[in-house]
Amino acid sequence: MESRIETKCIHEGWIPGKGEARQLPIFQSTTFKYNTSDEMGKLFDLEAEGYFYTRLQNPTNDAVAAKICAMEGGTAAMLTSSGQAANFYAIFNICEAGDHFIASSAIYGGTYNLFGVTLKKMGIECTFVDQELPEEELDKYFKPNTKAVFGETITNPTVSIFDFEKFARLAHAHGVPLIIDNTFATPINCRPFEWGADIVTHSTTKYMDGHGVSVGGCIVDSGKFEWMTYADKFPGLTTPDESYHGITYAEKFGKGAYITKATAQLMRDFGSIQSPQNAFYINLGLETLHLRMKKHCENALAVAEFLERNDKIAWVNYPDLINSKQYDLAKKYLPNGSCGVLAFGIKGGRDLSIKFMDKLNLASIVTHVADSKTCLLHPASHTHRQLSDQQLEEAGIAPDLIRFSVGLENVDDIIEDLKQALEQI
Ligand SMILES: *Cc1c(COP(=O)(O)O)cnc(C)c1O
Repeated sequence: MESRIETKCIHEGWIPGKGEARQLPIFQSTTFKYNTSDEMGKLFDLEAEGYFYTRLQNPTNDAVAAKICAMEGGTAAMLTSSGQAANFYAIFNICEAGDHFIASSAIYGGTYNLFGVTLKKMGIECTFVDQELPEEELDKYFKPNTKAVFGETITNPTVSIFDFEKFARLAHAHGVPLIIDNTFATPINCRPFEWGADIVTHSTTKYMDGHGVSVGGCIVDSGKFEWMTYADKFPGLTTPDESYHGITYAEKFGKGAYITKATAQLMRDFGSIQSPQNAFYINLGLETLHLRMKKHCENALAVAEFLERNDKIAWVNYPDLINSKQYDLAKKYLPNGSCGVLAFGIKGGRDLSIKFMDKLNLASIVTHVADSKTCLLHPASHTHRQLSDQQLEEAGIAPDLIRFSVGLENVDDIIEDLKQALEQI
C-alpha cells in the first residue's frame, strides 16, 4: 500500500535491516570493494548494478534521491551538487549543439544565465517566452530542432504560477518533454507529474534542506516520456553510446533511461556529485518538510495580508491572496498553499525600498531564500545589480521589487519587524 506524503518524507529511501542504523548512514567513502576483476568490469559496462566510485553513485545520495523520487511520484532520480547542476544536466542530457529549447522568461536568474549565455556557447539555443501568452502564441516558438520546454512551478523572484496543462499540451503536441523546476513549491505543495510534466528538478538548497546548511540539487524522471516514439529527436537516448560499448539507453533501461544516461555519462564526465554529508543534511530537512511548508505558507499569507493593507506598500505579489491575479491557478495546482516567498514594492520606488530594508532587525538581508529564517533581497541592488531599469523590466523585475522569504518565526514578530521599519520611512 502506498503511504501518504508525510510518511514518505520520513520513511522512503532507507529501510534498515536487522541491526542496521535506524537513521540513514553517511557512506563517506569514495570507493567500494569487489572480489574479482570481472565483477568490477561488469559495472563499467553497465552490465551489473553496484557502487564502485562515489562520483557516479553513492548509497547515501541514492537513498535521498529515492525519497525525493517517491515524494514526486517519479520512477528514477539522482542528486547533484547544486540546483544549477540539476538544471544543466536536465537540459544537456537531451540537447546538444544545434538543438533548441523553450523556457519561461520568468525563471530564476541563475538558470536564465545558464540557458541564455552559457548553453549558447555550447551551441544550444534557448528561446525565452512570456509564460502568460495564450497557447496559440506560444505554439509559434516551436521549431523542428526544439527538444524541451522548461518552467518553474512558482517563479523566483516574481512568484508567478506556471500553467502546467497549457505547456504540457504544447510540449507533447511537439513530441518533447516538459521539464519543471519545482524548488519553491516542493512535492508537498505540488507534484508536477500529476499535471503532465515529464521531468522535475530541484534546488534542494532551499526548502528541502530548509536550514541554510547545504547546497544541492535533484533530478526526478516520471518515466512517462516515450523517447523511442520520438527517436529521431533524442539520439543520445535512442542510438548506441560509444562510451559504453554501444549501449542504447532507451532500449536497455526503459523507464530508467534518462536518469541512467545522466548518471553514467554526464556525472561521469562533469562530476557535479553531491557530497554524502550534504545528502544526509537534506534527508534531515526532508523529514520535517511537510510540517515546515504548512507553516511557511501560513506565515507568508499573514505577512502578505498585512502588507496589502499597509498604505506605504505599492503592490504585493503572493499567489494565495484572494486579490492575486494568480489566485485561480494557485488554487488549481497548489490547493494547500504555494510557498513562503512573496514579492512586494514600496511606494517611492527603488530608493525607499533600500532604506526600508536597512531598518529591518529580524529579517536579514542575504543572498538566499526559502528557509527557516526570514530573509529578503532586493534584486535590483543585488542579484540583478548590473541591469538598467529597462533591462529589469524586460526580465519582469520591477526596480522596487523586494523578494521576501517568510521563515518559521512567530509571525507576529515578523509583522512587528516590518511595521517598525515601515514607520521609519
Ligand atoms: C536557487 C535556485 C536554483 C539554483 O540552485 P542552487 O542550489 O543555488 O544551485 C535553481 N532554481 C530555483 C528556482 C532556485 O530558487
